[in-house]
Amino acid sequence: MIKATLVPILQDNYAWLLHDEESGCRAIVDPAEVDPVVRAIDAAIGSGGGKLDLNLLTHHHSDHIAGTDAIRERYGARVVGAKADAHRLPSLDRQVSEGSEVDLGAATARVFETPGHTRGHVSYYFPDGPGGGGVLLCGDTLFSLGCGRLLEGTPAEMFNSLARFAALPGETLVCCGHEYTESNARFALHVDPGNADLRAYAERVKELRAKGLPTLPSRLSDELECNPFLRAGDVATLADLRSRKDRF
Ligand SMILES: [Zn+2]
Repeated sequence: MIKATLVPILQDNYAWLLHDEESGCRAIVDPAEVDPVVRAIDAAIGSGGGKLDLNLLTHHHSDHIAGTDAIRERYGARVVGAKADAHRLPSLDRQVSEGSEVDLGAATARVFETPGHTRGHVSYYFPDGPGGGGVLLCGDTLFSLGCGRLLEGTPAEMFNSLARFAALPGETLVCCGHEYTESNARFALHVDPGNADLRAYAERVKELRAKGLPTLPSRLSDELECNPFLRAGDVATLADLRSRKDRF
């Protein structure tokens, strides 16, 4: 079973430290800043043994990859990232694409190509997580109550990427790359004011943020009830929401 722990880095990014409890193997996802990531890894290794095995990269933006080479050098952890973006990622020890499987000890992640935010964005899905659901590392494709900006992709690509996530079990933990939930909630309430589930979720988010606590990981079932981008029924609706959010 994979346990995912967030590591706050930079302004509002999260790296994710993954631990396969059976084997003791660990991975770090999107290590964009060295010091806080090293502290988190050393604390985890110190208390539980084991080592860092993998760096998993979701996409090429510097606020996701900047610490990769330093982390590889320090721990000898292999770097995994999208074949399609190998030319603009740190040098990859393993190139992955749609359908690739990545082993972390006894656990195996499936790789989804999830373009929209960037052309070569990939997400990693471990089916075996806590609480009977999986663990989804979705970078800047899906956020809690939002989705990534369409910097390189089309609305249709983002729609298809989100549809992949929507088909996963509701208990799946959504481990995304930014703490944007509170500002996303303002837009979500603006476009879907009658959604009682969303209003309750936004309240919980507000309370967590007031205490300085993270809102992630979120549960996919909550996103399916509350996230307007995940709930968009067709490409045109998603395109309209995304362009309104860009101007909100
Ligand atoms: Zn990004």
